[in-house]
Amino acid sequence: MESEKPKNGLRISRRDFLKVSAITAAAAAAGYAASKNFVFDIFSPPVDDEQLQPGYQYSYAPNMCGICSSVCDILVNVEQKGNYIRAIEIDGNPLSTLNYGKLCARGRSGTLITYNKDRLKKPLIRTGPKGTWAFKEAEWDEAIQYILQKFQELNVQPWEIVLSGGAIPCANYRPEFIPFTFAAQIPTIAGSPMQPCLFGEHLGMNLTIGTFDIHGDELADDFQHSSLIVLWGNNGNPAGIFVNKGSRLGKGLANGAFVIVLDPRQSEAASKADLWIPVKPGSDLAIAMGLIKYLIDNNYYDDYFTRYHTNAPFLVYQENGVYVPYTANYEDGTVQAFYVYDEISQSIVQVPPYTNTNMYSINGQTIKPALRVQNLTTPDGKQLITVFQALEQAVSQFTIDYVARIADVDKSLIEEFYFRVGTMRPIDFATGQKGQEGSYTTMWRKAIGIIMALTGNIDVRGGWVYSGDHREGAIQLFQTYTSMVNSGQVKPGILIQRPQVLMSVPVLNLPGQMMQYVATALAYCNPSFWQHGHPAVWCAYNSTLTSQGLKPAAAFSLFPDTGIYEATQGQVKWNGQPYNIKVIMTCCVNPAKDMQESNWKQILQNTFVIMVDIFPTDTALYADVILPDATYIEREEPITTRGATPDSGYRRRWQAIPRVYPYTIPELDLFVLLSYKLGFFEQYVTWMANSLGLPADQLVQAMQKEMMPFVQYFEKYGTYPRWGEFVGKAFVDVQSQIIAQKLNTTPDVVLNKLRTEGVITVNTFEDYVQNNERIPWNIPAGLPTGRIEIYSTILYYYVVQNFGYDPTWDPILAYIPPNWNAGYAVTPGQFVQPQPPYNDPTFKPTPPEMFYIEFKIPPIAYTFTTNVPILEAITSNSYHTNIYQFAWINKETAQNLGINEGDWIAIISKLNGAKLIMRAHLTEWIRPDTIGVPEPWGQNNPALTYSTRSLKNFGNRAVTHIWPQSYDPLTGHRMAQQFTVLVRKATPDEISEYTQLAQVQTQDTIPSQENIPGNYTT
Ligand code: SF4
Repeated sequence: MESEKPKNGLRISRRDFLKVSAITAAAAAAGYAASKNFVFDIFSPPVDDEQLQPGYQYSYAPNMCGICSSVCDILVNVEQKGNYIRAIEIDGNPLSTLNYGKLCARGRSGTLITYNKDRLKKPLIRTGPKGTWAFKEAEWDEAIQYILQKFQELNVQPWEIVLSGGAIPCANYRPEFIPFTFAAQIPTIAGSPMQPCLFGEHLGMNLTIGTFDIHGDELADDFQHSSLIVLWGNNGNPAGIFVNKGSRLGKGLANGAFVIVLDPRQSEAASKADLWIPVKPGSDLAIAMGLIKYLIDNNYYDDYFTRYHTNAPFLVYQENGVYVPYTANYEDGTVQAFYVYDEISQSIVQVPPYTNTNMYSINGQTIKPALRVQNLTTPDGKQLITVFQALEQAVSQFTIDYVARIADVDKSLIEEFYFRVGTMRPIDFATGQKGQEGSYTTMWRKAIGIIMALTGNIDVRGGWVYSGDHREGAIQLFQTYTSMVNSGQVKPGILIQRPQVLMSVPVLNLPGQMMQYVATALAYCNPSFWQHGHPAVWCAYNSTLTSQGLKPAAAFSLFPDTGIYEATQGQVKWNGQPYNIKVIMTCCVNPAKDMQESNWKQILQNTFVIMVDIFPTDTALYADVILPDATYIEREEPITTRGATPDSGYRRRWQAIPRVYPYTIPELDLFVLLSYKLGFFEQYVTWMANSLGLPADQLVQAMQKEMMPFVQYFEKYGTYPRWGEFVGKAFVDVQSQIIAQKLNTTPDVVLNKLRTEGVITVNTFEDYVQNNERIPWNIPAGLPTGRIEIYSTILYYYVVQNFGYDPTWDPILAYIPPNWNAGYAVTPGQFVQPQPPYNDPTFKPTPPEMFYIEFKIPPIAYTFTTNVPILEAITSNSYHTNIYQFAWINKETAQNLGINEGDWIAIISKLNGAKLIMRAHLTEWIRPDTIGVPEPWGQNNPALTYSTRSLKNFGNRAVTHIWPQSYDPLTGHRMAQQFTVLVRKATPDEISEYTQLAQVQTQDTIPSQENIPGNYTT
């Protein structure tokens, strides 16, 4: 990208260009800040000779990619001539330590999302049956009046509304959306992909190290400094979809790291590996437990880290089948101290309830806590062992021989894997998405967290390094706790028993698990938090199930879709009354496809659906009102933090071009406008301020001031101004002053730097190391005890105490067999005993019965990228089509079944008969007993020009169609791969049924009928 093309005697590289623009942009940014009438004085353009059209001026606007939760730092390249302006290209910001100037194909194609003929351009109101395209165009006022009228007709109460948001609200707009629910008193959010990713795939690790969103903003896999990188069922993250991980992985490979991939399929990641282990689906937890045993048996664990910085030395005793911490308690029953055995004094001593180290007793005496003890009992005679010993017991059966039989791979592969993990340092096990999803997933991920802790790879270069954002939250929490204890406001205790401490930190500044705990236990599942006394529907569903003697369907989750379908079927009760769901409001999410397809089609069929989006996704086929959103390069937004990089600092979205369509309204403004119209504006803005620790009165004032011109413009013209966004502007007015104070400079300097460089770095990881701010080496982790928790105190003190014991949420580690076609995959809340042969962990199906896995592909994921012409072209070129759009089936297996390359096949769940009809790709790169399905296809809305082209290969049902209607009792994620399938050739009738598009009743309202206009500055 370092172009050196000569032009008019000037040689300029992109880096030089950035320097030049840094100077010239300063003046223009100030002009912009002063602008009051929506005319964007785009910053003074320097010449960029990478662009050669005479008379055009070229410039960059820093922004953040809005496609997936990697939220990479980008530069939008804009060309301008007179009043013509257009975004022509998107590059990675080379100053970013998040993505190091790199982008994926999706990020690069971002302009084609904005200039996409299928964009939603005007509000639409349904005129015909759901499931069809039948709309009339409407003015905004008309659309909003229609919504209000329906709310009145249906007598909608706040708890009867579900707000559903996808990766974009989750990764970008938590500070705005969570406060909206608080102010509007809407307790239910159904996030996607929150439920499968943040819970199904992350919770186990989060409970161990204290994070919440480890792929989005709280943890950096520091691959570039790793000696060993393990990518486990994980193509979707480093090699598939997250550039923040992928760019580091690239550096790690270049630096010679040894890479091991465990995956039944040779994925993109596996193709780069030194060792690919094609493990059997469902064997991951056994392999991880075998590795823990191997590390302990061979003394390959880090004794110092395990002893002092984890809770492995805590003494525990068994009670009703669960290990319970041995503690000294206050009169109110809360924990005063944990007990450990001190090898120096050879006695049991108390250690503080919340701290980062076990080096000192509660009296400040230096101790050496034992990892193993013998013949210790409580005063009432209960046998005591350490958490470390309980862990040893839990993994004792997983010898290498047994693991190799379960994993169905050669024993030598397991031996090499274990030996390398035992002997190489530093190590990084890739965090993130797409492993097997069943009831064992949380325990498997917890085991990975434990492996990283036992090997001391937490917050070290080459291992898992906390992001600057997370670290700042952990520091703030630690300081708050210390000051409240020192001033006598609270007694020392574990954080979840000291809500006063947690509530004294703005909720969105809390480090991961503590934020989740507050949001789950103290807000969304707490009926008294809500004026109407109704918790979120999933919490009500937990109560409904447990009152019937069943297990919950999401004991410790946040924003799952659990219980929504059941509520629409009259199966959820609260205080003896039906918990109804009447309205679904979606924002940048496609639940008709992203969540369980059959359930959600019924939910959307039976509720009033308001959809805010940029594309007519399949959810649009069920929407009653559609409100058109703006894209991320058409927006100006609040200043935010730096995401999943070890650095802390600031960045923001700057609007690069005027909004292409005058009837689109950026969603942040839309939500505040709704609160204004509905009369809870001040509460909403106050919640936003409080959640982030901003001065509420100043933000309310700024918001009022910035909003009114937009309201007046809107009332006068019925459309929205093309430049500017009042929410972003109001936030920036307040934030820039606070940041300037912190950095000892002026707001203009802050804004100019953000405008010209896109990012401000305040502290690097090295700064934090120098300041003694490593977690848990110097400061406590964001967990109740402050240590890395091999024993999860959240699972014990919150989940076990509320819901009893279940192996799914064992506080240490329990083996959960795959339970094929049984377990919790059959019906919500009920464990079904697997029948032979499915009760044997070494079970392997014989084709046509096969294991089923899903995988991500690099060019397409999430709502926004399924309809982009260039991505469609990449995935359908002659080399890629079969790899990216067909189901992967082993060549020999296929031949035995009479299936040829490109044949249409039926993949039928043995559990419930649901099926996918798609074409077959024959390959040696997948196990013979496993069929692999690429996940992002299956749309059938004729309004999607590019998306529906995959119909000819994949059919019209999303992969979620085959998921059983069942929930993991801990996280609420669907048992998306806990079943076997039967595979055969598809019949002509099946092919015909599965390649139909939805009916069109009003052709003229399909958005692509309208041409894309030119792009002008005013
Ligand atoms: S990984 Fe790709 S799509 Fe995701 S934020 Fe980065 S550039 Fe955008």
